[in-house]
Amino acid sequence: MTIGIIGGGQLGMMIAEAAKKKHYKTICLDPNPLCSASHVCDEVIVGSFNDLTKLQELGSKSDVLTYEFENIDALGLNYIKENYNIPEGTEPLYISQNRLREKGNAIACGLEPVPYQQVLNKIDLLAALAKIGYPALYKTTTLGYDGHGQYLIKSLADIDQIPFNTEGILEAYLDFDYECSIIMIRDKEKIVSLPISINKHKHGILDLSIVGQKLPIFNKIEEASYSFMEKAGFYGILCIEYFVKGDKFYFNEMAPRPHNSGHWSIEGSTLSQYDLLVSFLTKEKLEEPHLKGNTIMKNILSEDYAKLPLFKNKPGIYIHDYFKTELKPRRKMAHITFTDLTYIDYLEKYNKIFEGEKHE
Ligand code: ADP
Ligand code: MG
Repeated sequence: MTIGIIGGGQLGMMIAEAAKKKHYKTICLDPNPLCSASHVCDEVIVGSFNDLTKLQELGSKSDVLTYEFENIDALGLNYIKENYNIPEGTEPLYISQNRLREKGNAIACGLEPVPYQQVLNKIDLLAALAKIGYPALYKTTTLGYDGHGQYLIKSLADIDQIPFNTEGILEAYLDFDYECSIIMIRDKEKIVSLPISINKHKHGILDLSIVGQKLPIFNKIEEASYSFMEKAGFYGILCIEYFVKGDKFYFNEMAPRPHNSGHWSIEGSTLSQYDLLVSFLTKEKLEEPHLKGNTIMKNILSEDYAKLPLFKNKPGIYIHDYFKTELKPRRKMAHITFTDLTYIDYLEKYNKIFEGEKHE
């Protein structure tokens, strides 16, 4: 059986690693012949995600398709949906590509985002600010990732930096207690999920995912997330990110693919998000994953990449290098998983080694 993966970044690489353990073949489609997944996949088809002839090549060589890259255009999505076996469908991806669609769908399926308004121009923004108040966050509706396309508005003067060259939204800036995410996998029989992780960011980019503590609110979040997935009619893998403030939780965004906040599961869970996705794609029975113990995942960006060797050959520490050939500012280059480590111990032992010690 061959799994075709649209995208060959680190997520594609880790899907391919999980598939390989079970002796499935993998082929990825990526513009870069030396992409991360090329180090693991059996074949790389070099081309754009929106090139129908390349999608056709991938589809015809694969028994099942999945995606690790979110911005495939509507034409490409329709083409694969109509011609190939993509068990997750393309609807979750289509919804997640646009923040307005994504938040509208969240509300329709029982989740609550922070207050937001559509914004096309300065006039809309002023009207939205009058309703939402300060501080607020302007985000482009499409193509945002790792905090790109976001502007924090603390006062009227801050709106001058916004280019208004695309559709945007204004949302209330929430002084949350913490952020967390859940990763679920659903087949026709049931939904299974990984334990909820608490996520700490630096400069709008995920820095740490912390797992092990089960807070009382997590039961409610899990219940609402399962119900969301059923109401939305989604199958396959889905990550939902939340903000938590007091006893309330707010939908931030969703990703219908493996998620950075689930990397910890490779070592910290009996089954990782990648193992579960592979089981889903190959129609194996979905088993319940179990937490092994306190686990922390630390993202390594370009700025800290040279420090990676410090963590080599240490018990309970696992390095995942993405083999990227170019260091760009704040690019995710690798991650490290620490098993049997609590957040307090992490801060004491390791946090000071890295750039920008403070979490948001
Ligand atoms: P993306 O991950 O697509 O760049 P997000 O909407 O998840 O975009 O924003 C990135 C991070 O910025 C969030 O994880 C959070 O730390 C912060 N952030 C986003 N929206 C808000 C908000 N409304 N209030 C407070 N912080 C926010
Ligand atoms: Mg996010």
